[in-house]
Amino acid sequence: MADITQCALVDSLVLRPARDLSDSEWRKLSQHLRGCRSCRERYGALSLAVMIEPEDAPTLLERADALLAAGKPREAEAEYRKFVELCGTRRGKELARVFYKLGSIREQLGGRHAAVECYDEAYRIDPTHAPTLASLGRIAIIAEEWEKARRIYRAMLLGNLEEAAGLTKAEVYFQLGVVHAKLGETAKALNMFERGLELDPQSGRLRKAIAGLRHG
Ligand SMILES: [Zn+2]
Repeated sequence: MADITQCALVDSLVLRPARDLSDSEWRKLSQHLRGCRSCRERYGALSLAVMIEPEDAPTLLERADALLAAGKPREAEAEYRKFVELCGTRRGKELARVFYKLGSIREQLGGRHAAVECYDEAYRIDPTHAPTLASLGRIAIIAEEWEKARRIYRAMLLGNLEEAAGLTKAEVYFQLGVVHAKLGETAKALNMFERGLELDPQSGRLRKAIAGLRHG
C-alpha cells in the first residue's frame, strides 16, 4: 500500500540534487521506491538509480575490480557504469578513478575515442591523477593533438606528477620538446630538450633532437 505522506516526501527528495541528500534521506527514498510501484513508475530510470543504496557502492566497486582482475573487462565495465549512474551528480576522486578504469578498458577493447572521453572525464574531476595524465598525454601524441599534449605534459611537470605517471622528468621534457617542435615553437622545443639533457646527459634521443633543431 502506498503511503501518500511518504510519496509526497519522495516527490520533494527526488527533485533535489543527489549530492545534497543525507544518508538517512537517501535511505528513506530508496526504501520507499522499493515498496511503492506508483513512485517507481513516475520516476522511471531515476528511481532505479536511487534504489541502489549508498551502502551498495563499495560492493559494486569490489565486484568490478574483481572482474577486471579476472580478465573480464566487458563485465567489469558494466559494473563500473552502474557505479557512475549511482554517483549521479556527486563527483569525487573515487568516481575519477572509475572513469580512469573505464578509459583503460575501452582502450584495451580498441575504442580510442571512447577511451579519451572517459580519461577526459576522469581529468575534469581530478586533474592531479598521474596515470590519467599519462594516458591522455600518450594518446594526444598518437592522435597528433599537439595543443592538448602540451597542456597535459605541462600539467604533469607543474604538479610534479611524472614519477607517479611512470615517467622521468627528462622524458616529459623530451615529449614537450617534440610537441613544441610540432607546433612550430622551435626555441621552446630547444629549451625543453636542453633541460631534459641536463637531467639525463646520456640520452641519445635528446642529443639527436637538439642537433636536428640546430641544423634544421
Ligand atoms: Zn510512493
